[in-house]
Parts: sequence; C-alpha cells; structure tokens
Amino acid sequence: MIIKLRSESKELRVLRCLNARLNLSEKDKQNYYYAEKGIEGERKLDDLIENVSRECLIISDLLLECNNTFFQIDTVLIHPETIFLLEVKNYQGIYYIEENRWYKENGKEIKNPLLQLSRCEVLFRQWLQQHKFNFNIQPLIVFIHPEFTLFNASRELPIVLPTQINNFLKKLNNSTPKLMKKHERLSELLLADHQEESPYSRLPDYHYDKLQKGVICQKCYTFMNYFNKVKLICPNCGSSEKIEESIVRSVEEYKLLFPERKITVSGIRDWCLVVESDKIIRRILQGNFKLVGKNRYTHYI
Ligand SMILES: [Zn+2]
Repeated sequence: MIIKLRSESKELRVLRCLNARLNLSEKDKQNYYYAEKGIEGERKLDDLIENVSRECLIISDLLLECNNTFFQIDTVLIHPETIFLLEVKNYQGIYYIEENRWYKENGKEIKNPLLQLSRCEVLFRQWLQQHKFNFNIQPLIVFIHPEFTLFNASRELPIVLPTQINNFLKKLNNSTPKLMKKHERLSELLLADHQEESPYSRLPDYHYDKLQKGVICQKCYTFMNYFNKVKLICPNCGSSEKIEESIVRSVEEYKLLFPERKITVSGIRDWCLVVESDKIIRRILQGNFKLVGKNRYTHYI
C-alpha cells in the first residue's frame, strides 16, 4: 500500500522551466538531465511496486533530518520482516567496478553509489535509535534501466540488477507475516518527520529579464502558438491545450520561479506573451485566483 506518493522536487521543476527559457550552462544542463533521468527511473519502480502485496507500506521520496544532517531515501518499503531502503539508479549502458571504484565503459570514474547508500543507512539507523525503534534494515540500490550492465560486481553487493527486480518483488509478495502496530507507528512517524525542502538543492542564478517569455508545452517544453480562439498548440509535438489551462499553468510556473513578484494582468501578459488581450487574461486570473488590493495595487494570489 502506497502511503506517500512521489512528487517532483522544486529543483527539477525550476530547472525544467529554465532549460526551456534560457541557455543553461553545460553543468546546469547536465544536472537537469540527471534530475529528469532520475525521476523517470523512480517512477518506473513506483509502477512495479504498486502491485506489491498489501502487507507492505510504501513511502516514496522521504527526506529526513538526523543530527543536523539531511538524508533522502527514494523509496522506503516497510515489509513485516524488513525495512527496505531503496535507492533507484537509472544508469544506462555498461559499467564496471575495480577496487571498489565504479567506472563507465569509457573508463570515466563515477561516484560510487554504494557510499551514498551506506551514508543513508547509517543515518536511518540513528534515526530509528532516536525514536526507540528496532527493525531489520536492508538498504539496496535498484538498477532500473533494462540496458544496464555491471561487470565485476560481487554477489554480496546490496544491489538489485534489472533482471532481478521481478524476483525481488515476487519474494516480497510471497511472504506470509503480517504488518503489526509497530510498523504503522513507524510509517506515521516517518511521514510526520518528512521535510519538504532539501537545503542542499542548488539552483542556477536567473533573472526575469533574461528569460524567454511565452507558454511552454507541458509535454515537450517547446513554446506554444495560437491554434484558434480557445486553444494553443505546440509546433513540436502537436499537443493542444485550452488557453485558460495554459495561462493557469504558466502562472504557477511564474510563482515557482519568482515567488516575490506579484501576479498582475500586465505581468502575466508579459510572461505568457502569446495572449495579448488583457481582457482574456483578466478573466482567467479572476476565475482561478483571488483578487486582492485596489486600483493600481490590484494583484492575484
Ligand atoms: Zn510539445
């Protein structure tokens, strides 16, 4: 049973908007690419895990703090016998291990993902101790991409390879014990202790004037054009959307990128660019947001 669904991080949402509206530096572009790839893998695991026995409590995307240190777990799977801490990696291609170091096929070294996993395990154990819990813990890295190969991996490593995922889930399903009160208590406490925002997320500097204005397609992030009086269309993927929905979406994006800016008719006209009529924008803002202030101080929240 899933008790906390996955949501996209603020960092990913901001990077996605900026990538569409700005020429990001190579490093930021890469961060953005990894973030998209990461959530894609996590969602794939969510889909597979959804069917796991009812005798499991599943918490996605948990961010905890222990001894002034933040740590994040992609999926916590509370099983009657074991608490699984799952870290999902969407690596694609050939990788190999040599003397505890991890490399891509081309010889480029990558961060050893097991180090991150063991840090997470240590902090989670401390968290359990602080809350006087005693459970079996099993941290695991799940390699979710079907085209992932890892050479020189010892059989003892705490990893689940793409070809082992089904079997891993099947085993969970076959287990007979039942969840108890203490499992429920644990899940409640984890949820209560979950932090909404990571202090580690680092975003590139950006300024309103430097961003390209317009409405971006929600499927492929290309700028949309007028299709007819009521709809916009994406010239890249062809998906269309009612103008009202596009504007509301763009206002949400504006709020995300510029929380300090007030939402006004002229501000949103400038931001969305494609809709030039103040009348239409005013009507949409009135229908979806709350009007506050008077005369020239009017804005929406
Ligand atoms: Zn599109």
